[in-house]
Amino acid sequence: MRFDYDPENIFAKILRGEIPNKTVLETEHTLAFEDIRPQAPVHVLVIPKGAYVSQDHFARDATDAEILDFNRTVAKLCETIGVEEGFRTISNARGHGVQEVPHFHMHILGGRPLGRMLAPA
Ligand code: 5GP
Repeated sequence: MRFDYDPENIFAKILRGEIPNKTVLETEHTLAFEDIRPQAPVHVLVIPKGAYVSQDHFARDATDAEILDFNRTVAKLCETIGVEEGFRTISNARGHGVQEVPHFHMHILGGRPLGRMLAPA
């Protein structure tokens, strides 16, 4: 698989400070911020600072340090953002995944019962 990263995507602009965001947590390799259109009382996006298009791209090509930092950041967030009762992570990829922003991001959703995993097609 070839991954072509578009440096003009909206999350790249957030990382460059060109667009404001409500940062929840920032580490050396990872940024977490509030989704602009929250789908649940808690809706945080977690992104690597590196130029990765999707989760499979990140999992294949990121460094061990980036992958560790990303996952530890997710763990820290799950302790601090109010999802002790449970949460769902979602990472949409490409067309069938209906990915809107082509920079790998993980949604963390919670703060209420979330219903079944997928809406009926
Ligand atoms: P996707 O459909 O790609 O998985 O999700 C992209 C998410 O990014 C959506 O939930 C959308 O609300 C969010 N989003 C799009 N543009 C912005 C923005 O400029 N700032 C923030 N904080 N979130 C955004």
